[in-house]
Amino acid sequence: RGYIDRAPREDDMEFVDGGDVALRVPGGAGGPAVLVKNLYLSCDPYMRGRMRDFQGSYIPPFKPGSPIEGFGVGRVIDSTHPGFSAGDFVSGMTGWEDYSLITKPEQLRKIQQSDIPLSYHLGLLGMPGFTAYVGFYEICSPKKGEFVFVSAASGAVGQIVGQLAKLHGCYVVGSAGTDQKVELLKEKFGFDAAFNYKEEPDLAAALKRHFPEGIDIYFENVGGPMLDAVLLNMRIHGRIAVCGMVSQHGLTAPAGIHNLFSLVSKRIEMKGFIQSDYLHLFPQFVDDITKHYREGKIAYVEDMSIGLESGPAAFVGLFSGKNVGKQVVCVSQD
Ligand code: NDP
Repeated sequence: RGYIDRAPREDDMEFVDGGDVALRVPGGAGGPAVLVKNLYLSCDPYMRGRMRDFQGSYIPPFKPGSPIEGFGVGRVIDSTHPGFSAGDFVSGMTGWEDYSLITKPEQLRKIQQSDIPLSYHLGLLGMPGFTAYVGFYEICSPKKGEFVFVSAASGAVGQIVGQLAKLHGCYVVGSAGTDQKVELLKEKFGFDAAFNYKEEPDLAAALKRHFPEGIDIYFENVGGPMLDAVLLNMRIHGRIAVCGMVSQHGLTAPAGIHNLFSLVSKRIEMKGFIQSDYLHLFPQFVDDITKHYREGKIAYVEDMSIGLESGPAAFVGLFSGKNVGKQVVCVSQD
């Protein structure tokens, strides 16, 4: 509806009846275009940043009054682009609407339908899985036997990071915000240990308990007090991959970090990254993760809400931890 400078609420978004849609690419679309029926939409924390009128970001803000943009999976209904035909399944940037006219079809990827559910192309085989892949292998410089800590560990990115770290021979601990998620980390994703950070009065002490010898790699998803506590528990020459800081989005006064001097005393490398800078690795990622998944070496959990109308609540829920696994919205199954 308009820009906000606080946590998003469901009533920041509204449903508009767009009227009947002609199920073909209209003449005069301004170049080759693809009309897509949206099947699954992705809820991602970065979208909160697009609800602010902040031009300095790596991605422009949403336009109030227009459909929300986000990653989606859909079926091509009509196409004037030679690379796509009616019936193709695609993933890419689409809109929170039943049908989207994609005027930059080069941003779509064709999906070969297989034993892997279509919605997984928004998580395991989509942007969050890719974020985990490049973040872990390209930023963390992991070595077998190292001690790895992942925050927001049961979410879309975290669950994959932890499992890649296990496959690499690391010792992996995750934090999450409910006991149910902690169970999931240990039982389903094979983390060595996990804890509920909301029940720990002293995060630094909790980390010390789990990592008596310290942390080699921290995969940072949350920021704030967790980062401060991690800094106290890092080992010399440790690495921190800064993927995101979901606790800091939209805060007018982000948390002050007190323990940054640890970067110097422990010679820690701390590096932020954006997955889209590594897209040349995407084909390799798809091959590797598909193989792991088919061999039963990687598990995946998604949280599917049903119907476009459920989208706002599903999205808002990311910021209070309502989602258990990757949050997607099912608009239609066919
Ligand atoms: P998740 O599926 O993990 O969902 C967000 C989770 O964050 C919630 O379920 C909740 O889990 C946790 N959370 C929410 N608010 C807070 C808070 N105030 N303090 C601590 N934890 C909180 O999201 P993703 O896996 O999609 O994203 C994880 C991180 O990765 C985000 O920071 C995101 O911005 C970032 N990201 C970065 C990319 C990049 O290219 N750099 C690309 C994609 C994502 P819990 O119940 O455990 O608290």
